[in-house]
Amino acid sequence: MATPGKAPDTGKDADTGDPETREVVVKVRLNASGDPEVSKEYFYVSKSKNEEVRWVCAQEHDCSKNRPCFSVEFKNNDSPFYEYQFSSDAPVSGLVRRNVLPSNQIYKYTVRIGEKSSDPGGGVNQ
Ligand SMILES: [Zn+2]
Repeated sequence: MATPGKAPDTGKDADTGDPETREVVVKVRLNASGDPEVSKEYFYVSKSKNEEVRWVCAQEHDCSKNRPCFSVEFKNNDSPFYEYQFSSDAPVSGLVRRNVLPSNQIYKYTVRIGEKSSDPGGGVNQ
C-alpha cells in the first residue's frame, strides 16, 4: 500500500566537511572606502604541492544577482597559471604552468569590482 517513502536524504554525506585542500583561498571584498580588497595582498601557491588559488567573493550581496561580481586579470597576460583571467564565475586558477619555476617573482594582477580596481599579487614557491 503506502509506498515506503524514500528516506529523506539529509544530504550530509556529500558535504565535504573540511577538505584537505590544495586551494589557497583569496577573499575579495570592498573595503570601507569602497575599493576592492583581497584577504591576501600576496598569495603564494606551492608548485610541488599542486596548489591552486580560489578567489572567493566576500561581499555582502547575493552573488547570483551580480554575476560576475568580481574579475581578476593578470597584468600583461603574465600569469603563473595557464589562464590569466578569472572571475567569480571562473574562480579557480588551475595549476601553475609547467614551465614556471618557483621564485620570488611577484605576479601582479588586477581585481575589479564594478568600476573600481586594485592590484595585489601572487607568487609561486617550491
Ligand atoms: Zn559576490
